[in-house]
Amino acid sequence: MIGLRSALSELAWPSVMTDHSAMLMALLRQYDVSQWWTAEQLQEAQFLQLSQLAEHAFRTVPFHAERLRDAGFVSGMKMTPQIWSRLPILTRDNVRDAEKKLRATSYPETFGETSWANSGGSTGIPVRVLKSGMDGVMWQAAHLRELEWNGIDFSLEIANLRGAASYLKALSQNPGAFEDLGGLILADWGHPAALLRETGRMGLLEPTLPLATQAEYLMKRRPGYLIMRPSGLRLILGHFREMGLTLDSLRSVWTMSESVDESLRELCREVFGCPVISSYSSNETGYIAIQCPDATNYHAVSESVLVEIIDQHGNPCKPGEIGRVLVTPLHNYAMPLLRYQVGDEAEVGPPCPCGRGLPSLTRIVGRIEDYLTLRSGEKKRVHAEHYRISAIRAVREFQLVQTSFETIELRLVVSRALDADEREELDDVLRSAFEAYLKWSVVFVDSLPRTSAGKLMQFISEV
Ligand SMILES: [Zn+2]
Repeated sequence: MIGLRSALSELAWPSVMTDHSAMLMALLRQYDVSQWWTAEQLQEAQFLQLSQLAEHAFRTVPFHAERLRDAGFVSGMKMTPQIWSRLPILTRDNVRDAEKKLRATSYPETFGETSWANSGGSTGIPVRVLKSGMDGVMWQAAHLRELEWNGIDFSLEIANLRGAASYLKALSQNPGAFEDLGGLILADWGHPAALLRETGRMGLLEPTLPLATQAEYLMKRRPGYLIMRPSGLRLILGHFREMGLTLDSLRSVWTMSESVDESLRELCREVFGCPVISSYSSNETGYIAIQCPDATNYHAVSESVLVEIIDQHGNPCKPGEIGRVLVTPLHNYAMPLLRYQVGDEAEVGPPCPCGRGLPSLTRIVGRIEDYLTLRSGEKKRVHAEHYRISAIRAVREFQLVQTSFETIELRLVVSRALDADEREELDDVLRSAFEAYLKWSVVFVDSLPRTSAGKLMQFISEV
């Protein structure tokens, strides 16, 4: 779900593009300007791009042509917000079932070689999307923008504990790589950062190693930046605090794939003395939003994606409202995704005080499949106050599991027994979330399972 993709994000390069670094530099300089455009200017620019994308989809993807025609679009016309809003949502089911039908029958060569991106895995609905080389370029440009926004010092070492075995394997053949303390140390940060700048080293370590091993690695390598999932970060922070260990080399921690709540940001400030920087992306769409450098809200990456947040009636949400996230990548001409429902919900933010016109999202709420199923068949959104659970010091990790139509379990990994106040706090969270529908219980476990992609789900339904 959420992710600041590491500097490793794109190992494959679109081969038709010769002057890749120049293109990235040009995009970054363009972003320097466009991020300060007003919301109206950004929308106008986006609809110019949408007009071209819709025209291409109309001519080359019969699936979209039919939908576009029904919405009132005709070839040669400019896309308007009214026509756009009439276009049906493209669901993950659509993409899974109509994968072949969604591919463009022809495709401009200048957009680079295509490649498949997989997403979903064991959670939700797995989908495959064909992306263009240009999507890879936009991904890299967004990542570089994120580094620039946060004033990253390229000379420092990164510790990358994101745990992608295939990446580790691919990179173990990297020239100049050597092993240290159970991790693999690479000569630089890889693409795209190392294309444009001289960088420090990057160390890769499996986050499944014992916490003591991870801590020893970090204390010896003293990296300037740490990349890992929020759930893994919470564990390592808990370990440092419990063992009285310190690490003062970190400037920031970059997280991906899972949501970051305020309690994790606070814990990181307390233990590592540095902020958490998170962003929001998906394999199918690329970067969706990046954390504002001046705050903890997110800015949509409007230069490469149109982000819409809509309510249950399909109307755009207002600031403070939570709705479904629809994303339209503006540069995927290989398999255009028009109004693609990523599967998350987000809260629309007010205009950001930083002055950037890029739309603001206060938070990414999580997967929209997080629903309780009642015996009547009725679905209820899971409304547990997760942050109150994770604010309890002894809680290492937790997961809510609906085990039957009548029961839900809170599964907890704790570092010590909970005291009476902490138990009462948990009961209170569970009572207010579930009392009306389900019986709840608290179950202590040694560990919680991860998905095949290494992600810890906060809610699972076994119903
Ligand atoms: Zn901002």
